Amino acid sequence: MKHRRCCMMLLLALMLTACGTPTPSLPETFSGDLAYPWVTRQCDLGYRITGTDAHRQAGDMILKELRAQGWAVREQPFTYKGVAARNILAWKGDGDAVLIGAHYDTRRAADQEDPAKPVMGANDGASGVAVLLELARTLQWDTTQRRIYLAFFDAEDNGRLDGWEWIVGSTYMAAHWGENGESPLQAMVLVDMIGDADQQVYYERNSDPTLSKTLWDIAAQLGYGDRIIPEYRYAMLDDHIPFMRMGVPAVDMIDFDYSYWHTTQDTPDKVSAASLEAVGRTLEVWLEK
Ligand SMILES: [Zn+2]
Repeated sequence: MKHRRCCMMLLLALMLTACGTPTPSLPETFSGDLAYPWVTRQCDLGYRITGTDAHRQAGDMILKELRAQGWAVREQPFTYKGVAARNILAWKGDGDAVLIGAHYDTRRAADQEDPAKPVMGANDGASGVAVLLELARTLQWDTTQRRIYLAFFDAEDNGRLDGWEWIVGSTYMAAHWGENGESPLQAMVLVDMIGDADQQVYYERNSDPTLSKTLWDIAAQLGYGDRIIPEYRYAMLDDHIPFMRMGVPAVDMIDFDYSYWHTTQDTPDKVSAASLEAVGRTLEVWLEK
């Protein structure tokens, strides 16, 4: 009797210990507060200009995180005007495939201000990557019937500098899609410059209107109607275009009302966690439907 009570007390003590131990747990849904540090981590590496060490390190950091989150990954190296570049493609799941993309290079000249200086690209580059990496952590695969691709495009942002074109990496990826067994795409969404603390993401004129409405409707249901605004504004030459040309319904989520675009002022203080979260949650809900 005495012995049994002793055991019960020991058991109770163990249970109390277990209950009292704080278990560190991360939020299950997309968190702007967890996405934002990916902006600073990229910027801490320096200017991620195609062909530089900082850019290579950014690519390696992206690969490391994708692998840590259990994604299959493939590097897609290519050379453009004698400069080594690489796209990064990650995927999970099976079924109809959709692709979410962002460019991870930054522009080598801040030609809206001083072309002798480079662009840090906290919003123009790093914000889209941050959204993709937080999605890589949070997407719930048991509720999806899809293959999701995450694409990190290189060489998007040196257009008109030394004869470079825009959207070089995404053009290369689209041209070679399927050669390594990639699934046919049902849809593609690009996120570019979506981190501005003063956020206004309008319908983009070269995007698929039906898919745009689907995404913007989800944003409205989530309470982001004042940030992700169902009105047309700009027509963009961006990384969604090569996929549109393949016949894939594609959408560019972009906030082009950004005064620091292609200036030296495109720095992490201009980006907010709340803005990353609005776009990230919208995509998360769409992908998990
Ligand atoms: Zn740019």
